[in-house]
Amino acid sequence: MTDNKNIAILGAGESGVGAALLAKEKGFTVFVSDFGEIADKYKQELDNNEIAWEEGKHSESKILTAKELIKSPGIPDTSPIVVKVKEQAIPVISEIEFACRYTQAFMIAITGSNGKTTTTLLTYEILQRAGLNVGIAGNVGISFARQVATENFDYYVLELSSFQLDGLFDFRADIAVLMNITPDHLDRYENKFENYIASKFRILQNMTPNQKLVFCHDDEVIVKKLQASNPEIELLPFSLNEKLLQGAYVEGNSMIVKYNNCEFTMDLKELALKGKHNTYNSMVAAVAANVLKIRKETIRDCLTDFKGVEHRLEPVIQVHKIEFINDSKATNVNSSWYALESMNKPTVWIVGGVDKGNDYTKLLPMVTEKVKAIVCLGVDNENIHKAFKGHVKDIVDAKSMEEAVRASYYLAENGDAVLLSPACASFDLFQNYEDRGRKFKQAVRNL
Ligand code: ADP
Repeated sequence: MTDNKNIAILGAGESGVGAALLAKEKGFTVFVSDFGEIADKYKQELDNNEIAWEEGKHSESKILTAKELIKSPGIPDTSPIVVKVKEQAIPVISEIEFACRYTQAFMIAITGSNGKTTTTLLTYEILQRAGLNVGIAGNVGISFARQVATENFDYYVLELSSFQLDGLFDFRADIAVLMNITPDHLDRYENKFENYIASKFRILQNMTPNQKLVFCHDDEVIVKKLQASNPEIELLPFSLNEKLLQGAYVEGNSMIVKYNNCEFTMDLKELALKGKHNTYNSMVAAVAANVLKIRKETIRDCLTDFKGVEHRLEPVIQVHKIEFINDSKATNVNSSWYALESMNKPTVWIVGGVDKGNDYTKLLPMVTEKVKAIVCLGVDNENIHKAFKGHVKDIVDAKSMEEAVRASYYLAENGDAVLLSPACASFDLFQNYEDRGRKFKQAVRNL
């Protein structure tokens, strides 16, 4: 029998602990279970709030008696405990779904395969500078549930991954954003691209004609699916290729943003974030801000001064007129395509890591145009050699970041750039992409 006041939480990271605090505050009996080890700071916090927890196991007796299960997005539906919970017909939701029940805030929800974090931060910065009482949550920083428990924001900018979207049912965005959809994480979607697309489209659920979807008009996958589903919501497209009546587009060297009777134009050179992908990101933030009637001057100032985000095309330093750029967050082929596209100097490209079935041929035209040498940084570099052999003169292997940076320094000349944009996950040689990016910067500074 399930007890109506029992909530079980799987995963005691920032989102799980945030959900536990909110559930406790709302009068639930909470049990937090993590199959791995829980960080000390979270154990302390759970203890301080008299919330029961366990680590290194999942006790079925405590989990299967819950009325609802809040699952960390990192835990797949196929994990044995989740399968059992579902067999018992216990609803499985995400921390975002749970927390949205307890706030009336205006929601800007951003998803896509690439560009989420940058666009979320940029949008947040504009809203904040405009003086709105706004929080930022989702995949970034402090969990949404924790903020709902402790703050009283009127607006949220949420970065939502497909795993987070999978646990949403009643959640509704006021402005939803679909940046782009390219194959990623297919292992969690039965290797079916259509399942991953469907997951991204959950961002539209429960929306009505009053709500808005900001979406990439140049993305065939998105446009096709929208045509097929024809949702009754307001559509605000953005495009680099086509002039549009509403939304945002590029004409000549200008970005034009239009919503109802409000229109403003910015020279692309004024944008702080460079490269086509970042023009998309700037357009999205500008459209969302325009819908909220934020002053053009504020939007313009933010788009001009934005400092960028660590590990995303982050300039490190110049060594003997060789520019080093850290794009460690590029963990798939599509994001490295945009990184290479934005390079305007001969480039030594550091690439490699854990390959999620990458199709490197998509990068060939860009590599032929921009890349003078490749440094492979991974345990297994065979696919990279196969893809680019004969197209790039020098392709060398490195087994550590120091080695990769030294090799690239040796291959580059005055006026060149060295770009770390791995197109792969980092787990073979590093803890995560942040660790990889930090080690890159350290090795560059040690040159
Ligand atoms: P996400 O949060 O979706 O992973 P980020 O903003 O962290 O996206 O950017 C990750 C990488 O993706 C960046 O390093 C950059 O190379 C690339 N990128 C950023 N914005 C876009 C975009 N709009 N389209 C394609 N690639 C992008």
